[in-house]
Amino acid sequence: MLPIDGLTLDRSTTLLTALDQMNRTGRGVLLLVDGSGRFQRTITDGDLRRLLLAGHPLATSLDALPQIASVTVAPDASLTTVVQAMDARKVDQVPALDNDGIPVGLWLRREIPQPILLSTPHLSEFEEGYVADAFRTNWIAPLGPNVDAFETELAAKVGAKHAAAVSSGTAAIHLALRVLGVGHGDVVFCSSLTFIATANPILYQGATPVFIDSEPESWNMSPKALRRAFRDAEREGRFPRAVVVVNLYGQSADMDALRAICDEYGVPIVEDAAESLGATYKNRPSGNFGSIGIYSFNGNKIITTSGGGMLVSDDAALIEQARFLSTQARDPAPHYQHSVVGYNYRMSNILAGVGRGQLRVLDERVASRRAVFQRYAEALADVPGLHFMPEPAWSRSTRWLTTCTIDPRIMGLSRLQFVERLGAERIEARAVWKPMHLQPMFVECPYFSHSPTSVSDGLFEHGFCLPSGSNLTPMQQERVIESVRRIARDAGARSGVRMAG
Ligand SMILES: *Cc1c(COP(=O)(O)O)cnc(C)c1O
Repeated sequence: MLPIDGLTLDRSTTLLTALDQMNRTGRGVLLLVDGSGRFQRTITDGDLRRLLLAGHPLATSLDALPQIASVTVAPDASLTTVVQAMDARKVDQVPALDNDGIPVGLWLRREIPQPILLSTPHLSEFEEGYVADAFRTNWIAPLGPNVDAFETELAAKVGAKHAAAVSSGTAAIHLALRVLGVGHGDVVFCSSLTFIATANPILYQGATPVFIDSEPESWNMSPKALRRAFRDAEREGRFPRAVVVVNLYGQSADMDALRAICDEYGVPIVEDAAESLGATYKNRPSGNFGSIGIYSFNGNKIITTSGGGMLVSDDAALIEQARFLSTQARDPAPHYQHSVVGYNYRMSNILAGVGRGQLRVLDERVASRRAVFQRYAEALADVPGLHFMPEPAWSRSTRWLTTCTIDPRIMGLSRLQFVERLGAERIEARAVWKPMHLQPMFVECPYFSHSPTSVSDGLFEHGFCLPSGSNLTPMQQERVIESVRRIARDAGARSGVRMAG
């Protein structure tokens, strides 16, 4: 908000004086007030020009201006409220008035910072070349040289023997379950704390999910809860056909511990590494610890093809089968012949070109996201009741999204209120994924918690993500930090907790 010094004038002012004042103050807007300084209306450059064009002499008083009701806001209005007021009236300036109607400040649209978004695509200098190749050679189709190269390059990057590029991460999970033989009536164990796309394909296959809680150390699947789920399955004599393990917010799950349990029962793992491409687990690339791993290249992920996904595996037969199913399951016959149901899930050669360019900068993108996390963590370390997602010794997270929890008893605010207040500052923050066992569509499904109290319930209730894009400017990060500190300070003042600075 700008100060209003020199911007006010009253109706007795002449057109000439008003033009001069407009010129000197340089804001393109003045505030008409009455004798007691109460706001009457805004006056723009255009308003004065229209008086001149209507033939008013320069000595006319501003009484000649028509009465209009200009939009105003309260002094403590949020940025979002101010922008909404401007948009509703299609104006670019809004004065803030105190309770007596006296102007105390002026908002100009050009001074209002742009929204800061959670995670946006970040292109490099390389994508265009690969996409241009596709155009030049007329490979505007699913499949083609970019797809083949993207598969080879990604497989090499993550140390997998084989890869198949598909139209989305969700499609990749669906194919993974299908080629592992998950079918109607089967049971699939699945991390509860995740995005819905992990669990939906279980239903596509007519199988039933059993949800597994997180552990507090990594926020990912709890080996303890998984062990209990298997013991229960043993008692019932109904073993899962697969276990879907999710790597949340760029961090690997404790794959050795989880794999040991699954191996004991001979059950394959699908590793949902949609969020953890570029991360490592015990110094090895994340996503290649299960029978099949999947990645996503959705627009908000660490690298993107605007939409896409990939399956990786060391088992050639599984990837070959996934490829077969992803292209309508066409039998090797001289005509169109089909013996099983297939899908149209392949990635386009154009989008694979985007992916190849993005893959070349993956390491830089990981470094940037980790740097964003580092900056937040250091600058907000002293905020009472705010804690960042931990990173166990065996993990090197990509910090795809910087995620934290707040303790509402210390903060004096709920997570919902905190996210809303950031939103009012035009900063996009989001609640941690709502666990699958709490989703209305899955209320009937069994759930195994880490301890008597569910860990994922607490993470959902108290957790949220801050803007984390690899393309955030230092100034944008500074704005996030300042806003978080201010919101915490204002809330803390009310709850009696003191905070320095
Ligand atoms: C994004 C995401 C997916 C799905 O990927 P799409 O490419 O959007 O289909 C699956 N699982 C998790 C954990 C994700 O974050």
